[in-house]
Amino acid sequence: MKKHNFSAGPCILPKEVLQKASEAIINFNEDNLSLIEISHRSKPFVDVIEKARSLALELLGLENKGYKALFLHGGASMEFLMVAYNLLNKKAAYLNTGTWSDKAIKEAKAFGEVIEVASSKDKGFNYIPKGYSIPKDADYFHCTSNNTVAGTQMKVFPETNIPLVCDMSSDIFSRQLDFEKFDLIYAGAQKNMGPAGTTLVILKEEILGKVERHIPSMLNYKTHLDKESMFNTPAVFPIYVSMLTLQWLKDLGGISFIEKVNEKKAALLYGEIDRNPLFEGIVAKEDRSIMNATFVLKDNTLTEKFDKMWQEANINGLHGHRSVGGYRASMYNALPLYSVQALVDVMQELERKN
Ligand SMILES: *Cc1c(COP(=O)(O)O)cnc(C)c1O
Repeated sequence: MKKHNFSAGPCILPKEVLQKASEAIINFNEDNLSLIEISHRSKPFVDVIEKARSLALELLGLENKGYKALFLHGGASMEFLMVAYNLLNKKAAYLNTGTWSDKAIKEAKAFGEVIEVASSKDKGFNYIPKGYSIPKDADYFHCTSNNTVAGTQMKVFPETNIPLVCDMSSDIFSRQLDFEKFDLIYAGAQKNMGPAGTTLVILKEEILGKVERHIPSMLNYKTHLDKESMFNTPAVFPIYVSMLTLQWLKDLGGISFIEKVNEKKAALLYGEIDRNPLFEGIVAKEDRSIMNATFVLKDNTLTEKFDKMWQEANINGLHGHRSVGGYRASMYNALPLYSVQALVDVMQELERKN
């Protein structure tokens, strides 16, 4: 039986997607060739990437609204520097909500002044700062919608007149947002969309062209927009699997459908964390992530017992990030509700036995 996979990333993908993807490795489109041995400029693959790009925009409700979708290399981490390379003229504003924002800030500092409008570093990033103000003369504002590591999630996004840039790596396609508020969204595929190896970037072309510096071709969004994500060989397999996952999501009913499922899963697990006297959550309740739930055992002497129990219950990937410790249950789109129930059952069994 397939394990209940709570891995934070790379992470669970839909079974049907894995099945189709494995078939395409051997025989793609019944053409007696593998997907990964045909030209990326052949019609069968161009159809794949075009479909992936249009599904991404369609699911976010951004079709025909001036946005383009790209599949780039280098992970979300490459976007930390590409965003600044392409958009930061003099200064940029950043909200620091965790490890990933921290890294984005570090990269941006190489290109200009960075105003950290607020940070939750003082409390180990266990909450989302609120009530900050964004300087009107900054080139853009950058935030991270979901802190994958500590398990916090932004529930509201600031109103601002400057371009809004967001790292949505770990919660894109998981909940409905007013996506038109954003000017540039990026996400590594391996959290809610596909295997590692490609990064989805969605942007409005009009925010480009405002910096003076020379930008190397591969790091220039304009290059990739002009070549429709085909400037060099794209990551064919990760893009194919992403396309299948996006199609899977569309067939299910899109973001509005999956959001309800995700809320149910989160309510089930957080309900148990709050009810069960042996456990407690790590982050501020109002900022809890519906994707990554972090919690600890109040009594450390039960650790060994609990670890053995969930592993025996066929559960995978529950250890917290090395910087936080405790436990982290990542409940991405493809994780079924019954997997969360399996974890809750183990938590209740631990309570009964103690
Ligand atoms: C995982 C993650 C990243 C890093 O992604 P890479 O593709 O490994 O570079 C960046 N931001 C967030 C929010 C993440 O969850």
